[in-house]
Amino acid sequence: MAVSPYTRRSVMTILFDYLALSLLSTAASAGYMFSDAGISSRSDLFGKILRDEAVARLNELGKVSDADGYLERTFMSPASVRAGNLIRGWMEDAGLRTWVDQMGNVHGRVEGMNANAAALLIGSHLDTVVDAGIFDGSLGIISALSALKVLKINGTLGKLRRPIEVIAFCDEEGVRFQSTFLGSAAVAGILPVTALQISDKSGVTVQDVLKENSIEISEENLLQLKYDPGSVWGYVEVHIEQGPVLEQLGFPLGVVRGIAGQTRLKVTVRGSQGHAGTVPMSMRQDPMAAAAELIVLLERLCKHPKDFLSFDGHCNDISTESLSNSLVCTVGEISTWPSASNVIPGQVTFTVDLRAMDDMGRESVIYELSNQMYQICERRSVSCVVDRKHDANAVICDSELRSQLKAAAYSALKKMAGEIQDEIPALMSGAGHDAMAMSHLTKVGMLFVRCRGGISHSPAEHVLDDDVWAAGLAVLAFLETHL
Ligand SMILES: [Zn+2]
Repeated sequence: MAVSPYTRRSVMTILFDYLALSLLSTAASAGYMFSDAGISSRSDLFGKILRDEAVARLNELGKVSDADGYLERTFMSPASVRAGNLIRGWMEDAGLRTWVDQMGNVHGRVEGMNANAAALLIGSHLDTVVDAGIFDGSLGIISALSALKVLKINGTLGKLRRPIEVIAFCDEEGVRFQSTFLGSAAVAGILPVTALQISDKSGVTVQDVLKENSIEISEENLLQLKYDPGSVWGYVEVHIEQGPVLEQLGFPLGVVRGIAGQTRLKVTVRGSQGHAGTVPMSMRQDPMAAAAELIVLLERLCKHPKDFLSFDGHCNDISTESLSNSLVCTVGEISTWPSASNVIPGQVTFTVDLRAMDDMGRESVIYELSNQMYQICERRSVSCVVDRKHDANAVICDSELRSQLKAAAYSALKKMAGEIQDEIPALMSGAGHDAMAMSHLTKVGMLFVRCRGGISHSPAEHVLDDDVWAAGLAVLAFLETHL
């Protein structure tokens, strides 16, 4: 957990205030923290746009699904296209000129006073996981459009010093093609042309799906989707936290310090397949028992990396402190062959998902993990192969954008509550976001919004109406610095 600005006392004070005010608000319907002392009111026109209308839009978009009874929108599915059209309408309502690019990303842009100035891009994704919540991705798009609508109504949209462009990215979750960031990677110019030929379970390729939707994309015009870095000022994304830290601190908003780097491994353990009743324990080469030991080793190493790495020359340069704070490791998938109750398995494979803010630290952990895994397998007379399937380096958010977003969040909360005594929390993101791909094009900044119980990728995902309002007000305050 990265919540450094807080002393124990101030966290406790905040938590206490939060609880006290939550109770008060339930009684008086006045709302957490956001009392009448604030200068923004949820009942004035702008309050209604940033809060009630945004919440209504989140609910409306949350009903646009390919499935009956739960939310599912994958790359260019019929529901995704309908969602894109709905968002496009809201972009126009906010005074933006709109278009859909050749990957299916939906864009809305206002030029402001200087169409040639470098543009501020604000975005998030319109696709979802299967059985998703309604806030993941959508909140970032809708809060940006609400803020721009306020600027349109108060007559300042044309007075922006630089163009502002909102992008609803077509694919971040990667559900359909198992390839994340199809939309933002294309805009950032890091999507390989081979991505067009990836096929889904039914054999349909990315290129085919786009063609079905009357979008002709070739290898040449994929390259043209890349924005000229000189034409872009920066990229900002508002997203639900998808974790419990902000709720624990009692803060609706937090600034993101960076997005963790990630490695995915596939570990295959082979032993000697045999009869569960006839092979004595002392004569077994059981890959299942070996896999169990490997998984427990992984947990120990990731819980206490210091114990494993500090004595051992190759990690002198890394900060074991920052590693301990951010390292998370998960075995989420395991399979066994032949998978029968009366058979000692011949083979067990499992995945490892390993994330950390510190790329060198992550490397050291993988190095140490592989070493110790091979030693365990040798001792148990089974064979062990560790395959590296995916790597993404950590992204550090731009320090200037970070302080601007912090100031914007502070100003939003002050408008709502009248007085804010503590600093806006700074968090790291363990989840990947479009900002990761966009960091290859320009500087990036992110704002996190509290979600109930830290739950995401679930229909139980929830953001308070007042927190939606806080997010919209923060984007508005940020945009006002570009007037
Ligand atoms: Zn998301």
